[in-house]
Amino acid sequence: MRMSSVYPLKFKPIYKERVWGGRQLHQLFERNFAGAHIGESWEVCSSPYGMSVVANGIWQGMTLAQLLHNYPQTIMGETFTSVQQFPLLVKFIDATAKLSIQVHPDDSYARTVEQGMGKEEGWYVVAAKPNAKIVYGLNEHITQQEFVAALQGDYLLDCLRFVAVNTGDMIYIPSGLVHAICEGIVVYEVQQNSDITYRIYDYDRVGMNGKARETQVDKALDVIKFGVSSTTEFHRSVINGSYFSMSKHQIDGALMEPDFGNLRIYCAVEGHGYMRYHTGEIALNPGDNLLVPAALPQVEFYGKLTLVKTTITGHSA
Ligand SMILES: [Zn+2]
Repeated sequence: MRMSSVYPLKFKPIYKERVWGGRQLHQLFERNFAGAHIGESWEVCSSPYGMSVVANGIWQGMTLAQLLHNYPQTIMGETFTSVQQFPLLVKFIDATAKLSIQVHPDDSYARTVEQGMGKEEGWYVVAAKPNAKIVYGLNEHITQQEFVAALQGDYLLDCLRFVAVNTGDMIYIPSGLVHAICEGIVVYEVQQNSDITYRIYDYDRVGMNGKARETQVDKALDVIKFGVSSTTEFHRSVINGSYFSMSKHQIDGALMEPDFGNLRIYCAVEGHGYMRYHTGEIALNPGDNLLVPAALPQVEFYGKLTLVKTTITGHSA
């Protein structure tokens, strides 16, 4: 692969219908899609449940999996081998209605019980209605016994920490933390590339097929970390997870990104501008994601925009 032909990649979004979804991604990002209940837009993904396809340049039409197979080091950096899978899943979530109360396993539990990967998540709040809330952990001192009693007695919500969130907040969700996005929030989410969710409580809702959605309470009880108090500090500009980090950059003018040798994903969450790279430039509008391959030299941003930058910091073994 000649360096001069490497460029920032755009992907076609993959829309997912969800019982709690809506039309906010159309409202916010002027995107056109069918469906009244679009809950997720998968922006960068390589999994059996969704595969990103390049939307620009010479690699247009190729899947992310094909790119990683053909040009592993060009895209991912020197340490990546083509047998590894893409480690992240990047999406927007439109919680027009609230999501189920849930928890995700860590790598070791997921490997043993599910032959899969664990999941940590990082959220950037793109939009939040006044008084919008999330569930972030349990109220202090809730034991496993009390938790089970509350679930059986149908008063689980009394055990949960509901926390107000605002546009621009960044929230880290480690594995083992009970969490949920409540109604009226649009989130930009970066997570480990895993689809393992243990649903604990779903407000007695029925799914798109008219049947009650399944819960996985036993496994959830295995992985919830009881007895740890969950500190909440959302008004920050960096998330340092175990597998990735996310940072917020407010640009009014120009920003140089000399970062070279690592894959980066930039999301324009607000405002307008463009990215310049060694052989061209690409416009950035709200909701746009750009994957910058590891082999691409310095990039520069111009305009008035808020960017969220994601880099990979670790891999599941
Ligand atoms: Zn989750």
